[in-house]
Amino acid sequence: MSDTLPTPDSRTPTPPSPTGELIRFDQVSKRFGENTVLDRLDFSVEAGKHVTLIGPSGSGKTTILRMLMTLTRPDEGTITVDGRRLYPAKRREVAEVRRNIGMVFQQFNLFPNMKVLRNVTEAPVTVLGLSKDEAEARARELLELVGLADKCDVYPSQLSGGQQQRVAIARALAMRPQVLLLDEVTSALDPELVAGVLDVLRDIARSTDITMLCVTHEMNFARDISDDVLMFDGGRVIESGPPERMFEDPTHERTREFLGAVL
Ligand code: ADP
Repeated sequence: MSDTLPTPDSRTPTPPSPTGELIRFDQVSKRFGENTVLDRLDFSVEAGKHVTLIGPSGSGKTTILRMLMTLTRPDEGTITVDGRRLYPAKRREVAEVRRNIGMVFQQFNLFPNMKVLRNVTEAPVTVLGLSKDEAEARARELLELVGLADKCDVYPSQLSGGQQQRVAIARALAMRPQVLLLDEVTSALDPELVAGVLDVLRDIARSTDITMLCVTHEMNFARDISDDVLMFDGGRVIESGPPERMFEDPTHERTREFLGAVL
């Protein structure tokens, strides 16, 4: 991919926000050829909040998560995470931001050649420098949290899709990230496996202070966990608010149309 590498160069440090703002997009634009995906997008997320991005397919939601993971670079605008500017940024600082952001994808992306426990311990050992014992203790706690304490010694291929996704959630949390990005984490699952994964995420949302940015079509789930819902269309946020208001009384015609189609 051509746009994956951050530029190491002079970064202007941005002071931490006094408002508790953790993520900020300022006038961010992104084009793929002729296709303007994000158009001077502004939004911010406060630390500890759970924010859901909704909107039609192709409205740029995944692109936003990928930018936070420094997998896709914006053409214009600034993105800051915890006061650190991401583009441009020094390689070391990008690594630090990425360590603080966990992402769970639609496809679970587990390491197929490693047993479940090792999937969860690998990054804490190699990236954070935890001892094997420390990493294993943390991994066992997290596997318990996602209901898979008894699956430490099996390979991912021996698990259902829902179980694999729960391992992927434990693996993301093992890095103790400040932010958890969830990109349509149930859309590749058989319908009967969806509820188990969403229940685990509800638990995490309730019991931790992690900041969550979530792309989902599961509107009941969004309603349960979100502090704020952002509706995307035409490369911008066209409407946002608490889930009760957004789902019960959307003001924008496009939001009404979209919710009418998915609810
Ligand atoms: P959403 O998550 O809202 O469905 P995406 O962020 O995945 O939207 O995609 C927004 C638009 O950007 C889509 O039209 C998609 O085809 C396009 N797009 C995303 N990534 C690329 C890429 N690497 N190259 C070309 N087009 C892309």
